Amino acid sequence: MLEKWRLEIILISLVLLTVIAIIAEQKILQASMVITPQSGYFLEVYDDKRSGGNSQAEMINPQNFEWRCTLRDKFTYPYCGFEIFFDPKREHGVDLSHYNKIRIWLDYKGPNKTLRLYLRNFDPLYSSPDIEPSTKYNQLEFSTDLLKDQFLEFSLKDFFVADWWLVEYNIPPQLRHPQFDNIILFEVQTGSKDPLGEHNFHLKKVELVGQRLTTEKWYLMIMLAWLGVIVVFLAYRITSLTSQVHSQKKREAELLEINSLLDLRSKQLEEKTKTDSLTGAFNREGIEEAIRIGLWEWRGQKKPLSLILIDIDHFKKINDEHGHAVGDHVLSTLSNIVKEHIRSNDLFARWGGEEFVLVCRNTKIEQASLIAEKTRELIASYAFNDKVRVTASFGVATLNANETLEQLFSNADKALYQAKHDGRNRVVAAEYL
Ligand code: GH3
Ligand code: MG
Ligand code: MG
Repeated sequence: MLEKWRLEIILISLVLLTVIAIIAEQKILQASMVITPQSGYFLEVYDDKRSGGNSQAEMINPQNFEWRCTLRDKFTYPYCGFEIFFDPKREHGVDLSHYNKIRIWLDYKGPNKTLRLYLRNFDPLYSSPDIEPSTKYNQLEFSTDLLKDQFLEFSLKDFFVADWWLVEYNIPPQLRHPQFDNIILFEVQTGSKDPLGEHNFHLKKVELVGQRLTTEKWYLMIMLAWLGVIVVFLAYRITSLTSQVHSQKKREAELLEINSLLDLRSKQLEEKTKTDSLTGAFNREGIEEAIRIGLWEWRGQKKPLSLILIDIDHFKKINDEHGHAVGDHVLSTLSNIVKEHIRSNDLFARWGGEEFVLVCRNTKIEQASLIAEKTRELIASYAFNDKVRVTASFGVATLNANETLEQLFSNADKALYQAKHDGRNRVVAAEYL
């Protein structure tokens, strides 16, 4: 039962899987990356001393992502920041291009009206590992008012590349877009509005949310999976149909073979019914066809039809003197001798007991008489065994105009009778009676 519905079951399962894949796409494809103090990344704080300022940044508790900055107005744009490195060597970062959102849980105390986030991307096209600022500044600046919410959420599309960096590194137009495929560090920096004074930061968590695969790729995969299933199904159908055709052909060939065997067997059986079992000569049924053809030839084509009746002389005596078995042997041996020497068109049959008949188609009585004579000599000269010699008498007749088959047989019989009467071991033709 199950076997019969196998294809349907597979198809229904695949349809269900496809529906699930479409409905639960978001859940299946959702990817997220969480950064907490426990994540074990390399951390650093920095300030504007590297630009000639005299602000001061210090890590309060790295195990808690807590740091503090005091910004003083020596440098034109005082700043300080906190960095989480995905690669401290600043070269082989993480690919964040499949994320589309960033969420930040941040406590901040200080005078700043804005803060900045950076996702810095390394690309050998414009970055060098030795020059720290040569990594791309994917930047976002937000108002500290937003920090009232439990967490901040931004799209990665909200990031832009810092202008000063584009100018500084002379970035060509095709590389000026934000880029997230090799982010080496994440950065929280003080903002540009009212920065002077003391700033306290406590970053609790950063989370990136995205999709492992784009929706287009996901649908392409579903389509490819279906194509694969169809190809496998077609291949399976083609091979199974080919093997079906093959086995059918084989069965047909077997049936043909069986049929021809049966034909042969039925022919053999038919022949058997037309053959005398003791002598192997035709029996009365077997002779019928030859006579029918002969009669037809005689009528239609005027071909002469002759008949030779053969009767073994004193056969009773052979039986009496040598036994019935020897009698049987004589009958079958005689049959064999005659069969071997007659023409292929002549038909030899056992007429009954020790009497035989030779139907000679397209043969005139003279020729039939010659055949009878030759056969007579053959039998008479044959040594059946040391003691047994056999002779036979022959009555020959031919079918004359306006005669029936019955008359033909009667004429042959009369001739045979005459041969017996004349002393046996001789041929008598009806014509000469
Ligand atoms: P004739 O010369 O007048 O023909 O004498 P005959 O003895 O041959 O003729 P008859 O008809 O008196 O005897 C024929 C014998 O053939 C009688 C019968 O026992 C024998 N006979 C008939 N069929 C068979 C057979 O199948 N096997 C054997 N061994 N003998 C058979
Ligand atoms: Mg007889
Ligand atoms: Mg006889």
